[in-house]
Amino acid sequence: MDSPVVLNADLHCHSSVSDGTLEPEALAARAAANGVELWALTDHDELAGQHRARAAALDAGLAWLAGVEISVTFAGETVHIVGLGIDPDDEALAAGLAASRSGREQRARDIAAGLAAVGIRGALEGARQRAGNPELVSRTHFARFLVDSGHCASTHEVFRRYLVAGKPGYVPHRWAGLGEAVRWIRAAGGVAVIAHPARYRFTPTEEYALFTEFVAHGGRGVEVVTGSHSESEAIRYAETAEEFGLLASRGSDFHAPAESRTDLGALPWLPGRLAPVWEALEHRIERA
Ligand code: AMP
Ligand code: MN
Ligand code: MN
Ligand code: MN
Repeated sequence: MDSPVVLNADLHCHSSVSDGTLEPEALAARAAANGVELWALTDHDELAGQHRARAAALDAGLAWLAGVEISVTFAGETVHIVGLGIDPDDEALAAGLAASRSGREQRARDIAAGLAAVGIRGALEGARQRAGNPELVSRTHFARFLVDSGHCASTHEVFRRYLVAGKPGYVPHRWAGLGEAVRWIRAAGGVAVIAHPARYRFTPTEEYALFTEFVAHGGRGVEVVTGSHSESEAIRYAETAEEFGLLASRGSDFHAPAESRTDLGALPWLPGRLAPVWEALEHRIERA
């Protein structure tokens, strides 16, 4: 075995600016307390937390990269592309994300209507109340409402029973295109990374197409070690990273203390034979 890359980088997590429950400042403090050395906040389709994250990170002695997690539709499935080292003030990126967020309002109404049809009332108001950002009402906020109102015991149960394809609160949605998302990230000076690849329900052919098209668009990285991968999935995507010549990323995908199995920074190391994504982003890292 190669010796691992011993840097506690956590380059994927969410604040109350998207579907996390902690403010960016609380996340930075928690990351520092957990021994994280390099940190990025990657809210879904939103940059509004980045300046707060930067200030709090530098305050807490963390090295910091700007980040975002962009929702993309590829082969009929939702894929998440993380952008790291972006300029958080890039106007084209902000405009693209705003356009993507704008579809969430109608989607939330449709999700609530689907839930009302099976007797769950007040879901739109319940989800909105739980969203820290009115432009970012997500399925996670519906899930928290259904747990709080006693319909389910956990957010995972809500997703399984109500919010995935074939269930009453599922609403098909078209997000940004893969090429579009990668271009926004690159034009904003960042590196595009495929998030948690083991979580997509692709056939081998579709997955191969995802990686091939991603690289063709200029995507450069893949999450190998993430809170959403098992040990065997991490090994599998370490091989994929080598096969496609991709940089490797590491991130917890932490959302909330009560919900997330993986806390900030509490992850295995990256395998040593892989090139860590942060080595390509040295010029974008800010330190106190
Ligand atoms: P949305 O962008 O509104 O479709 O919401 C997607 C978010 O839902 C993801 O970023 C996760 O935070 C959360 N999520 C997706 N699947 C599950 C699941 N099975 N259990 C818990 N949370 C999930
Ligand atoms: Mn999320
Ligand atoms: Mn994701
Ligand atoms: Mn995420």
